[in-house]
Amino acid sequence: MNINQLYVSDWLGKYSTKDFEEMYTYGADDLGMRLEGEEIVLKCWSPFAAQVSLNIYLSGEESSASVEQIQMVRGEKGIWQITLGASGYLNKYYDFTVVFDNIPNEDSKAEFTACDPYARAVGVNGKKAMFIDLIGTNPEGWDTDRNPNQSMAWNEMIIYELHTRDLSADLKSGIKNRGKFFGLIENGTYIINGKEKIKTGLDHIKDLGITHLHLLPFYDYGSIDESLPYNENKYNWGYDPVNYNVPEGSYSTNPFDGDVRIRELKQTIYRLHENGISVVMDVVYNHTYNEGFCFNKMVPGYFYRIDADGVLSNGSECGNDTASERSMVRKYIVDSVLYWAREYHIDGFRFDLLGLLDTETMQEIRKGLDTIRPNILIYGEGWKLQTELTKKNVVLATQEHVSEMDRIAMFSDNLRDAIKGSVFEEEEKGYISGNKAYAEEIKTSLMGSSEWAEYPEQIINYTSCHDNYTLFDKIALCNKQIGIEERIRQNKLAIAIVMLSQGIPLLHAGEELLRTKINRQGEFISDSVREGDDVNSIKWEMLLKPEYQNVYRYYKGLIAFRKNTGLLHMTDPAEIKKTYFFAETENELVICFKVIQNNEIMIVVLNADDKMVEINLHDIFVKEGTWNDTLEGKQFQCYVNEYAADCKPVSETVYDENDCTIAVQAQSCVVLKNIQF
Ligand code: CA
Repeated sequence: MNINQLYVSDWLGKYSTKDFEEMYTYGADDLGMRLEGEEIVLKCWSPFAAQVSLNIYLSGEESSASVEQIQMVRGEKGIWQITLGASGYLNKYYDFTVVFDNIPNEDSKAEFTACDPYARAVGVNGKKAMFIDLIGTNPEGWDTDRNPNQSMAWNEMIIYELHTRDLSADLKSGIKNRGKFFGLIENGTYIINGKEKIKTGLDHIKDLGITHLHLLPFYDYGSIDESLPYNENKYNWGYDPVNYNVPEGSYSTNPFDGDVRIRELKQTIYRLHENGISVVMDVVYNHTYNEGFCFNKMVPGYFYRIDADGVLSNGSECGNDTASERSMVRKYIVDSVLYWAREYHIDGFRFDLLGLLDTETMQEIRKGLDTIRPNILIYGEGWKLQTELTKKNVVLATQEHVSEMDRIAMFSDNLRDAIKGSVFEEEEKGYISGNKAYAEEIKTSLMGSSEWAEYPEQIINYTSCHDNYTLFDKIALCNKQIGIEERIRQNKLAIAIVMLSQGIPLLHAGEELLRTKINRQGEFISDSVREGDDVNSIKWEMLLKPEYQNVYRYYKGLIAFRKNTGLLHMTDPAEIKKTYFFAETENELVICFKVIQNNEIMIVVLNADDKMVEINLHDIFVKEGTWNDTLEGKQFQCYVNEYAADCKPVSETVYDENDCTIAVQAQSCVVLKNIQF
């Protein structure tokens, strides 16, 4: 029987009822396998099953035949369990056969074979779970491993969004473990420029100054055949979860042996921590790869939002939407996130299509993480999507509900689109390309504000990520008439706005070397999810070009400037309102403001026009009536201009009230700070 045929059974009508939840919600934190002394205790949840049997295998390959079958015993709350002697079963593989013979409205019997939804280790392609001693997978020193940025405020973090494979796929990276977890942790790799060695890989990321490495999904996903060698398997971003609690096999050096991927991921996290970098995991609980998902086989139809006609809700556009409002789905998501934080020392979570999950689930996750370690970062895509909830009064975790949850941030599409133009309209220009209509939105975002957020640390500021065109490609597409120099100026202005905004900045990996995604036909690729390494990989040789080197140093300099300037780490919107002064400018494309707090003064002029502007700061702030009281007698130096950015002044020029005319080149910005004695 096809699993979809069960969706019209009247079980579907029961799953979200109070009666069902009271009868079958299982609260203990012991689903899946646990090693208790010399014994393995295995539990799974399948309330309507007539029988659940455990199949044992010697290898994890799909084709391997079971060597033993053991009946599981029905317990309370829909739980099935068995206790086994550890010595006979550790490192062996298993799955479940679930039999349903009491299907309402159906005469037939149904039987499904499913991997353990709580599997901690799996064989190749995640078909079978493995009994594992997790302590044995810990690297040396794991007990003392810590998040190196544990006490950092969220708005002091600099997030770098990267696909594991992209960092090392390019042969010129000099990285040996191409496309693997281990490719993320090789120190000392470089590309040669004459006599100079230019850093690549991990050393490049460290040099850039980021604090948090956000890795695209690295739980076990379905779109890559792990059994193929590296050069033959396809590329995918991995937004297609299969086993939520196990690392992806294709990033390990041996996907066939269940514990290798676990060891290698832990080792990778340990080394990143040693290098001062925190790790953010991209998690995708809003949908699964397909309806063959193991949890859905154990409890048919329970995991998804399905209407009375058996039609799956599809707000995710990936075929199904997770019913996070159901008690045991919620528990599953919460258990999974907490497991990664505990077992793998993950420092932050980025939720894909967060707007499809509900606020109660997110609150439970927040509370749970706070019991593990302080300050674990949570952010996600709070987009509003059409989804068919299975209960009344459920609040979805969208931008408009961000303040109904504690300490969860969301991506700001407001700033993203204001900077470079809508991602849905290829040729629409943003502020950096001279679109005046976005100037007000830029001002709002600079202050860490938006119509949906209450405070800046609810906002992730970015101008590009893995989705859509890269920043540099988008600029090219909506500015077909202009040359590369002008496009580079716009790109630099874009990142300056992100780094000068209150909130949490996020960079798309490779943006700092003007990443482009172009295929062999010379076309820009918008969503490169199924393209190969040649489109997706970071092309290290770009750093050999002086103008690209300059962009890299500009990103690095802006990061250093941001880290060093307390004025950019404000948390209180009322305080921000009090400290920001925007001056009227004649040109709508010129944004001029000052920020004053205690003895620190920052003056910023953004010029998105395609010609240079001169601004006399004295005149412009006198007109506002804000020169005399605060700026009189002060001297200023320049930290950011069209060419350079740094935490130290980038030129020797000193500005004061007698000499305060600044020239802001076309599509660039100038940032001054006062000299403090
Ligand atoms: Ca996989």
